[in-house]
Amino acid sequence: MSVGEKPDSEAGRDFIRDIVRDDLASGRHQAIVTRFPPEPNGYLHIGHAKSICLNFGIAEEFKASGARCHLRFDDTNPAREEQEYIDAIEADVRWLGFDWGAHLYHASDYFERLYAWAEHLIETGFAYVDDQSPEEMRASRGTLTEPGRNSPFRDRGVAENLDLFRRMRAGEFPNGARVLRARIDMASGNINLRDPVLYRILHARHPRTGDAWCIYPSYDFAHGQSDAIEGITHSLCTLEFEDHRPLYDWFLEHLPVPSRPRQYEFARLNLTHTVLSKRVLTALVRDGHVGGWDDPRMPTLAGLRRRGVPPAAIREFVRRIGVAKANSVVDMAMLEAAIRDTLNPVAPRRMAVLRPLKVVIENYPEGKTEELVAANHPDDPSAGTRTIRFGRELFIERDDFMEDPPKKFFRLAPGREARLRYGYFITCRAAVKDADGEVVELRCTYDPATRGGDAPDGRKVKATLHWVSAAGSVPAEVRLYNPLFTAPVPDVSDLAASLNPDSLEILTGCRVEAALAGRNDGGAVQFERQGYFCPDLDARPERPVFNRTVGLRDSWAKEQAAPGNGR
Ligand code: ATP
Ligand code: MG
Repeated sequence: MSVGEKPDSEAGRDFIRDIVRDDLASGRHQAIVTRFPPEPNGYLHIGHAKSICLNFGIAEEFKASGARCHLRFDDTNPAREEQEYIDAIEADVRWLGFDWGAHLYHASDYFERLYAWAEHLIETGFAYVDDQSPEEMRASRGTLTEPGRNSPFRDRGVAENLDLFRRMRAGEFPNGARVLRARIDMASGNINLRDPVLYRILHARHPRTGDAWCIYPSYDFAHGQSDAIEGITHSLCTLEFEDHRPLYDWFLEHLPVPSRPRQYEFARLNLTHTVLSKRVLTALVRDGHVGGWDDPRMPTLAGLRRRGVPPAAIREFVRRIGVAKANSVVDMAMLEAAIRDTLNPVAPRRMAVLRPLKVVIENYPEGKTEELVAANHPDDPSAGTRTIRFGRELFIERDDFMEDPPKKFFRLAPGREARLRYGYFITCRAAVKDADGEVVELRCTYDPATRGGDAPDGRKVKATLHWVSAAGSVPAEVRLYNPLFTAPVPDVSDLAASLNPDSLEILTGCRVEAALAGRNDGGAVQFERQGYFCPDLDARPERPVFNRTVGLRDSWAKEQAAPGNGR
């Protein structure tokens, strides 16, 4: 287990929930208010899901005492933010299963109030307009070991500061000409306290406020004050904001805010073979390395949804990894296990042959077909049965035949008998090859007495194969996904080189049970012995397309372990 994980028995208890419980018990708060504060500059990913499940989850768990969770867009940088992202974020949070009710907010709702508080800081001597260039500001900021230097504009009088700040707002100056800074301490050991920027000039149209503003507040200035305006009690964010907490508190102390939220930090989610950075994900989409934000290889909620991952699997994954205070990297296998465990009880079983090899049953009459009964779920009789069609021409998986099998290979080979699931025992009589020597067809015979999968004489076969008949199946495309990045911890400095060239494998000419053809409902199925699949958005009734959501673990070992697994 990695550091961020907790045994299941402890899930639902973590240091944050402990703090919340204590604060309720001590009467520090009557009702808990949390928030999820995305910046609408990209789609949500599974890391955000951790934060969403934490914030909305706490609101649900403490609902009896009036807890709630706000969705607040941190829309303070119109240069990078778009309505498309706002819409996608709302849809994704709902899809995950959470509801903000009436509590949808935007930092931009507070622009006027934030502006007034900026003037308040100027008037109380705690903010000044700095005319230094961005380069000069960077150069005088100091380092971790050396203090910064005061700006030559730091001691401007209140009147001059107010006048300049108002003219900044009025649009008199170009981008980057001036900024408003807090006047705290250029020698502070915490770089965030070295006169941080509160407002910058940005002549850009905002999706919500239009052209009303050409100065925009910084993240640090907007965030805590938005929390205070909304009466947030516990402002939960990731560890990289720990060093911002003194500034968060400084603003609350120096402004006439209506409430005093507290910030707590938890470890962000990192996943092996995955990058959870909006900057990198944006680059993947922009540079065409993936098909879009909802490419099923993307760790975005849109991508996971399209891939067939149910929201319950993501919530379960988040529950299993828990919430800790130390950063860690969670193994992708943890996510896959949560997906399997969620889909296994509910996904109906079907048969599909991904790499078909034609089989002709020589002793089965031409033109005849018959219906066999197949269970929809081996562990759940209430899922019922369906009929599948058997005939003279069938398809099996290419991998299930070997002309010259090694010792441990128990499937079909010349002269060998195997069971077709829910069907008959068949014996391979000959392999037909093409001019290149490749096997293109098997000539087999079947034993009519083994209908349903057992031999009356009690003879055993070692393998049970999935199959479809030519008459009872339709062609389909199947898309197999592998990790987008080759290395467990990808090097994002060279994206192109770190991408897995085999992340997408498209199989055409697969054969699936005919009843699957019309499906475009996104519902999961298990293709027996292969994994969990769902119809892709691209699927059409005449052109089925399936995504592999996740493979089966040890599917072959399992078949071997259950030799009576014939019906
Ligand atoms: P950026 O700020 O660089 O655009 P971000 O991933 O921090 O990217 P936000 O929209 O600010 O994006 O994130 C919204 C919330 O989700 C924040 O509270 C943030 O801490 C949380 N969050 C983001 N990434 C993760 C992660 N990998 N694990 C847990 N929480 C995360
Ligand atoms: Mg952020």
